[in-house]
Amino acid sequence: MKVGILGNGQLGQMLQDSITDLTDVQVSLYDLRAHDDEALAAFIAKVDVLSYETENIPANIVDQLEAHADKLAPGLDALKVFQNRLLEKNALRNAGIATADFRAVNSLEDVHTAVQELGLPIVMKTTTEGYDGKGQYVLRTPEDAEPAWETIGNRELIAEAFVPFLRETSVIASRDRAGNIVVFPMTENVHHEGILRYSLYPAPALSQDKARLAENYIRQLADSLNYVGTITLELFETEDGLVGNEVAPRVHNSGHWSIEGTEASQFRNHMLAITGAALGSTEPKFASVAMLNVIGEETPAEKAETIANAYRHSYGKEARPARKLGHVTVTGNSDAERDATVNELIDLMPAGIWPPKH
Ligand code: AMP
Repeated sequence: MKVGILGNGQLGQMLQDSITDLTDVQVSLYDLRAHDDEALAAFIAKVDVLSYETENIPANIVDQLEAHADKLAPGLDALKVFQNRLLEKNALRNAGIATADFRAVNSLEDVHTAVQELGLPIVMKTTTEGYDGKGQYVLRTPEDAEPAWETIGNRELIAEAFVPFLRETSVIASRDRAGNIVVFPMTENVHHEGILRYSLYPAPALSQDKARLAENYIRQLADSLNYVGTITLELFETEDGLVGNEVAPRVHNSGHWSIEGTEASQFRNHMLAITGAALGSTEPKFASVAMLNVIGEETPAEKAETIANAYRHSYGKEARPARKLGHVTVTGNSDAERDATVNELIDLMPAGIWPPKH
């Protein structure tokens, strides 16, 4: 079987690498940045199944995919819904998942209305093309309305009530063509300046009720869309529950720990799902795992090469400030063992975010 992935970044590469033992599946990657219509048409024609490593696919390419929707997994619907934060929030609500109260904003007047109806603070976001905290503006006073609209507006926005969260988490699942679902354990995700810096399994001090709720949420979401592949739900943990923030119709940075950390990774299960194979187990192989991102420079990751329970992944990208260049997975038979190794790799972290607060 021939599988084509739209996007040849690290996610596409890790998808490809996850099933190199399955010799009857050939995977090729399409460089979205070097797109031309003919090249894409030829790429689609030669594959049996088409998938994508990113939901940020330009509209002209999405248009071209319409005629090949039968090859796409996850489907075109999922791609379109999760490209747009308003459609995404509605999909979360439809699947019975709690979200922040939100309003569509198409004018400065709508900003004022949102301030009146939602109260402050408000997190304003562009409905499309935002990632790593870009295209966002936090309104704290009514006077912020105009600068917010001027800075990120003059296009469709979503205004969200501010969620007073304790921490950020995510849950990842894979759903196969027959509707079977496997769910990965939740992680706590710690960000700095809008970029994920590390994820922890298990999420420290996570209650069983919340773990169960997250699992129910992602099952409901995947089922509601008849989804095929790996899907990620980012959740704010609040005092009394979980609030859905964002969905990625794909493998996610907070699931990279699964390469070493679970029986079958998020990447492998995506490939198994879309090729019609049975899913692998999401059972953790270690008591404790951390995934540390390598951001901006590779040097602090080099030490991982000399540490037995640290696994360095380098994406082969040119160093640039704030750019994700790789990640390091640290495994342990206990949190203490894992954390001792993370402490050896502390140069990977900006000051003040390690150890975790929970
Ligand atoms: P997003 O791109 O939606 O993941 O948002 C980026 C970051 O902004 C999140 O990781 C949160 O830290 C913060 N954020 C986004 N939406 C909200 C919200 N409604 N309330 C509080 N913080 C938010």
